[in-house]
Amino acid sequence: MTEDTGASAEATVSCAMCRAEVPLSVAVAGEAGDYVRYFCGLDCFAAWRKQGVAQGSADAGKHRE
Ligand SMILES: [Zn+2]
Repeated sequence: MTEDTGASAEATVSCAMCRAEVPLSVAVAGEAGDYVRYFCGLDCFAAWRKQGVAQGSADAGKHRE
């Protein structure tokens, strides 16, 4: 007899913000340049994007004058 549920074999990923392990099917993927990061939910995804935008604008801001 084989188990046919498949649920237990689901791959998991670690949230890039809080390190929580979540199933790949419910993880939120965020692209950052050439790589992709995974998040446990939209809250962590939003926090990560905010962080990235803040860093990006800080960099760009130096060339404004
Ligand atoms: Zn998270």
